[in-house]
Amino acid sequence: MTMTIAFIGLGNMGGPMAGNLIKAGHSVNGFDLSEAARAAAAERGVSPFEDMAAAVTGADAVITMLPNGGLVKKVWAQIAETVAPGTIMIDSSTIDVDSAIAAHAMMAEKGCLTLDAPVSGGTGGAEAGTLTFMVGGSDDAIAKGREVLEPMAGRVVPCGGAGAGQAAKICNNMLLGISMIGAAEAFALGEKLGLEHQALFDVISTSSGQCWSVNTNCPVPGPVPTSPANNGYKPGFAAALMLKDLRLAQEAALSRGAQIPLGAEAAQMFGLFESLGHGGEDFSGIINFLRGADK
Ligand code: NAD
Repeated sequence: MTMTIAFIGLGNMGGPMAGNLIKAGHSVNGFDLSEAARAAAAERGVSPFEDMAAAVTGADAVITMLPNGGLVKKVWAQIAETVAPGTIMIDSSTIDVDSAIAAHAMMAEKGCLTLDAPVSGGTGGAEAGTLTFMVGGSDDAIAKGREVLEPMAGRVVPCGGAGAGQAAKICNNMLLGISMIGAAEAFALGEKLGLEHQALFDVISTSSGQCWSVNTNCPVPGPVPTSPANNGYKPGFAAALMLKDLRLAQEAALSRGAQIPLGAEAAQMFGLFESLGHGGEDFSGIINFLRGADK
């Protein structure tokens, strides 16, 4: 079914995601505070709006793709009186679980269907329409939201009720941050022990230490030619975004009383890495920090 979809937040992720909705035949009303983002989205066929309320008026679905939970709650509150009951509201930003739950409650009160649907797959996945959406919300909202998400998705994974998508996202990314530090430590130790990168890779990638951080995003150049290590640690997945997700995991652990000592250590290390000016590098560049090289 062809829909009118309002898309708020047309940045590095939102712009190409909105473009894939256009390619699927939907009509997309786009809003962003940045004129440059609106203009870039217009090149993809999005109808740019300078007024957010006008963009959401009459929309069948609203998607937000914004930097943080405070902004998501603010934007959803600003449009709460304008969206019609029955509208499907989807937030695909990566935000804290408690803000996501509050956003669901706010719009459920207005008779909307609501989803938290953060993504993994980065800007490449956003462009290609192959993002994985981790989705939290009611069964009805998931059924209706799936139709909206599919043109942007490789996979849509239902995770549970309100906030469950954000919860799954931060648990996964915390594990990823920890596993990358583990992979980097293994290769840095191997170097000191005189092991060739390829030899260590051949063992780990087929043994019990295998993981995405080694098999796909290997932190040393050579064994996996497509990993960012072969390209000056150009992201990929920027260390600053990893740090954001690790901090969200810490916030969630504090609010729910979970013990995440390795997650906390990973946040500290990526925090230091960023403060040394490496936030724009792929997160696998943490191996240079471990080696003590400030590059
Ligand atoms: P971005 O900074 O490129 O885009 C955010 C956009 O939101 C900007 O264009 C900004 O102008 C706009 N914006 C800010 N406040 C606004 C408001 N009040 N109203 C309307 N527009 C507003 O960020 P991004 O890389 O597109 O990331 C968006 C979200 O996706 C973040 O939550 C991020 O953590 C998550 N994410 C990013 C990636 C990635 O690889 N970039 C991967 C997965 C998830």
